[in-house]
Amino acid sequence: MTKKERYRFVIDYFSEHMPEPETELIYDNPYQLLVAVILSAQCTDKRVNLTTPHLFQKYPDIYSLSKATPEEVFPIIKSISYPNNKSKHLVGMAKKVVEEFNGEIPMTVQELTTLPGVGRKTANVITSVIEKQPNMAVDTHVFRVSKRIGLVSPKASTPLAVEKELVKNIDPSLIHKAHHWLILHGRYTCMARNPKCRECGLQQACAWFHKNVTLI
Ligand code: SF4
Repeated sequence: MTKKERYRFVIDYFSEHMPEPETELIYDNPYQLLVAVILSAQCTDKRVNLTTPHLFQKYPDIYSLSKATPEEVFPIIKSISYPNNKSKHLVGMAKKVVEEFNGEIPMTVQELTTLPGVGRKTANVITSVIEKQPNMAVDTHVFRVSKRIGLVSPKASTPLAVEKELVKNIDPSLIHKAHHWLILHGRYTCMARNPKCRECGLQQACAWFHKNVTLI
């Protein structure tokens, strides 16, 4: 199978089986999504979703969060990984959005990455989820799954290298969906330790499957 055929197979499969993939983070607006994505670093979406209702009740918008202190935010998010740093990032992010962006969450990767706690991956998530911009956020699932299937070269050793290869080969109109497809596939089928290869619909196109799984 050529690389082009592999991409075609994978995109056709997901288009049919997951036509409208969405983030599992619960949010109502860009402010809430940005907070949730910052909290989700090294933490499960499930845990973030358990925490954000209380946080958004106390800080319903960017202005209220900008007036908080990290010490006030900390107890609300303490069950999440790295609560100390994340409390500082959330308050710092809110202050900067209010002071430099008139309280509007910016919608370019370049501007977003100037905010505390916001790296390239987070900025790609925000812009692709809110505006369907063709930006591919590469987290641990996207990295693992795209390499296993053979969508990217084994030599692509960093998230940025994987991002560039995926973006080069996927139609821009589908990149925002492809991000969720690869994450959800990695979360529920192609897990790090025990991928469910025997029930996976991508067997035919998967380089890892052909190399490692023997069907008897
Ligand atoms: S066949 Fe196995 S390794 Fe390949 S994508 Fe499916 S679960 Fe992952």
